[in-house]
Amino acid sequence: MSNFNDLLKGVRKVLLIDPAFPLSRKSHNHADLLPVGLLKISSYLKSRGIETKLIRLRNQLLKSDLDFDPDLILITSVFTYWANEVKNAVDFSKLHFPKAFTVVGGVFASLMPEKCKEFTGCDYVNEGIILEAEDIKPDYSLLGEDESKIDYQIVHSSRGCVRKCGFCGVYKIEPTFKCKKSIQEEIIRKKLIFYDNNLLANEYIEELLKELVELKNSKVISRCESQSGFDGRILRQNPNLATLLKEAGFVNPKLAWDYSVKSHKKRKEEIDILVEAGFKPKDISIFMIYNYDLDFVELEEKRIYCFKWGVQVSDCRYRPLNRLDDNYNPYAKKPQSNEDYHINHNWSDEEVRQFRRNVRQHNICVRHEMAYYSNAAERKKIPKEDSLKFRSMSFEEVKNYLSDAWNPLEINYPKHTKTSLDDFLVSGEKK
Ligand code: SF4
Repeated sequence: MSNFNDLLKGVRKVLLIDPAFPLSRKSHNHADLLPVGLLKISSYLKSRGIETKLIRLRNQLLKSDLDFDPDLILITSVFTYWANEVKNAVDFSKLHFPKAFTVVGGVFASLMPEKCKEFTGCDYVNEGIILEAEDIKPDYSLLGEDESKIDYQIVHSSRGCVRKCGFCGVYKIEPTFKCKKSIQEEIIRKKLIFYDNNLLANEYIEELLKELVELKNSKVISRCESQSGFDGRILRQNPNLATLLKEAGFVNPKLAWDYSVKSHKKRKEEIDILVEAGFKPKDISIFMIYNYDLDFVELEEKRIYCFKWGVQVSDCRYRPLNRLDDNYNPYAKKPQSNEDYHINHNWSDEEVRQFRRNVRQHNICVRHEMAYYSNAAERKKIPKEDSLKFRSMSFEEVKNYLSDAWNPLEINYPKHTKTSLDDFLVSGEKK
């Protein structure tokens, strides 16, 4: 942003605030939601002689946290539906540091600047990325004791994307596609997690991957992972990239399958390219957006193809880019409605929950190389010797013994789940 430096005129001390965003149970990369943007900004500010301090509102506040007299407060934002957490951070700033100028930046701020200002009550909204802090090492020292717990580093080798998918806001936040040829100078950890929106679209991707292969061979890095799915079209055009990804130490590759089941032959081709390069099918995941334009049945058809190919599914529940809340509760005892969270017109609350459940069970089957899933077996409610005996059975065989056996190869519509042991073992097999 061109006037970020204007905000810094006369500023001596900057407080960086990471709001108390909810923790994700699903992704270890998000486990601690490292505020990498703030850490990079801190490095930039320090290079200009400005003192910085970080407060992570998820952590317990220390007395010393308030012992700072900032002129400027920078608060980060992520998804629009985490707007409340950003508002709480602004309220916190206004209460404890009333003289400081409060600025919100990040994804929500960039997607809905006016709404962000009105909703949070901040003094200013900083739209887009701060270019001055792009090619800079993050200031991990701000994390204090947390620093030693973080053994990975988040990196961006590109910003923006070459595509414009309907459900994605990248083109608004990062409208220009910018690529780096090298990231060597930024590396401070052995494990790298790429937060690029479309890593393979980087025009220098071959050079970049070759650099990573060298860094891996010389043990500067140990492994890499891409947070986003690889662009299958690019992989099909240049299958050699899969070999370079493998040599560079990439793990758990993901491919995106956002469109119709009719494109299944292309997905298979992309999976074959990854397998040919040495990745195991069960370590590959296919990203699928659900609760969006394709209905439940088509998503299930896609999931079944994935099972036949032996790959996992990474489900991604659609939320509109302009919705400020998401109170979906995976443990809700009662059905939830559109009031609680976005339910697309062609989906129901039951289908959303069922698809999530199917994906979880599907992934357990893939990881354990089993032809069926059983809740009773997972919860160790079946005697161990029976469990072992059943393990290698086909679904057709095991359903004679386990009434809760779930078949990953069929469309599993919403239904009531069974809960007691007697419900799981079919008659004649009850203990
Ligand atoms: S390819 Fe990915 S990052 Fe690019 S527009 Fe589509 S969803 Fe967004």
